[in-house]
Amino acid sequence: MANDLTEEQRALVELARELAQKKIKPAARHYDETEEFPWPVVDDIRKADIFACYLPEEFGGLGGGVTELCLAAEEMYKACPAIPMAFGTTTLAAVSILLFGSPAQRQRWLPDLASGKRLGAFNITEPGAGSDATATKTTARLDGDHYVLDGNKNFCSTGEAAEVYILFASTNPSRGARGISAFVVEKGTPGFSFGKKERKMGMRASPTYDVVLQGCRIPKDNLLYAEGYGLFVAQAVFDVSRPGVAVQGLGLAEGALDATTDYIRQRKQFGQSVSSFQAIGHMLADCWTAVECGRALLYRTTRAIDRAMKPAIEKGLRDAVPVFDAMKALDTPRFTKEAGMCKVFCTDAAMKITTDCIQMCGGIGYMRDFPVEKYFRDAKVLQIYEGTNQIQRNEIAMMLIKEAASRSRRTIIPA
Ligand SMILES: Cc1cc2nc3c(=O)[nH]c(=O)nc-3n(C[C@H](O)[C@H](O)[C@H](O)COP(=O)(O)OP(=O)(O)OC[C@H]3O[C@@H](n4cnc5c(N)ncnc54)[C@H](O)[C@@H]3O)c2cc1C
Repeated sequence: MANDLTEEQRALVELARELAQKKIKPAARHYDETEEFPWPVVDDIRKADIFACYLPEEFGGLGGGVTELCLAAEEMYKACPAIPMAFGTTTLAAVSILLFGSPAQRQRWLPDLASGKRLGAFNITEPGAGSDATATKTTARLDGDHYVLDGNKNFCSTGEAAEVYILFASTNPSRGARGISAFVVEKGTPGFSFGKKERKMGMRASPTYDVVLQGCRIPKDNLLYAEGYGLFVAQAVFDVSRPGVAVQGLGLAEGALDATTDYIRQRKQFGQSVSSFQAIGHMLADCWTAVECGRALLYRTTRAIDRAMKPAIEKGLRDAVPVFDAMKALDTPRFTKEAGMCKVFCTDAAMKITTDCIQMCGGIGYMRDFPVEKYFRDAKVLQIYEGTNQIQRNEIAMMLIKEAASRSRRTIIPA
């Protein structure tokens, strides 16, 4: 993999690795225990300019794509999967605005998200609308030059630490799924507040909050793209962002394996290193094989996404139209199936690998003073958020059957 990288990508990986090892890793245990928001470390990520790595230069970005996003994230997630979640949720907000925002909206919000000056969040989930986003009950009513939002969202990652939120609400409940729209809501808007902060099993450095909308008036201009396009926004963003969850799984699996390998090499039982027992060696071999399979699938997919998206992004910026319009004009392929496959494979692997890491370490692996149990706790949610792995499999199967039905088994990604 290292040989496939450009000079710039190699430099980015080096930068992210140094930041991860010097700043993120030493802080991981503290923020897991205290559940405080890791502001000083987020500030370090900001100073290293990593928030900018996947955004166009026009907005202060470094001109990379999903590949650069994943390369930087993999290094950070190796050190701790939870602290860099603020980076992850900011990418969700920024990608929503990049793909669906008007030129004015891009100029208004992307520079601050690219610099990390303001953090972003993305909240579609509601108490009654989890896997089924079409059940969204939050409403947005047009009132003159404003929309008025009312309802309750939940499970908002980065919570009150963010400042720019992508929120989903129905502008026309009678139209069901086609009545849902996406909005940008800024922190501090009257009627926008936070409810309870969740107490979680893992990812404890990443706060998860209820969001309360009570007569929340936002300018009409904060509507993303057009009324009724909310679920298009969510799906198109997930097509690009799910590799980001996949890499969270790979990064944390690599972190857990590094700690495990160090331990089993020095741990002696029956007069020999436990790593010399074939049963342990085979587990280690299977774990790393899964990581390398995941990395191959992931980076093959991110490169295909970047190849397809780059012309659309350039056209959207050049013609001063939403990138989504440019995607339609260029017939840009979508990567719902491939992004889902990356998410399913890498996050299921992360859960199995962290379970096996505890097993390889024995009792110490279960203890909170040893790093592996934290990776295990952090891994679980990856199979749940951004669409559970059951929902991913539904989507993958649906796409496969559709492709077969239309006899268009075209390979989007050339071998
Ligand atoms: C720590 C954490 C952070 C999160 N952060 C965010 C965030 O920032 N923004 C946001 O919007 N959301 C966020 N979420 C919410 C997350 O995306 C949802 O939890 C997830 O989509 C599942 O919804 P649910 O919890 O309501 O489960 P449910 O939809 O109630 O599902 C329950 C079970 O039924 C299964 N199931 C449901 N429907 C089907 C089906 N059709 N076929 C097969 N199986 C099915 C599910 O796979 C699951 O196993 C977060 C969640 C957690 C735990």
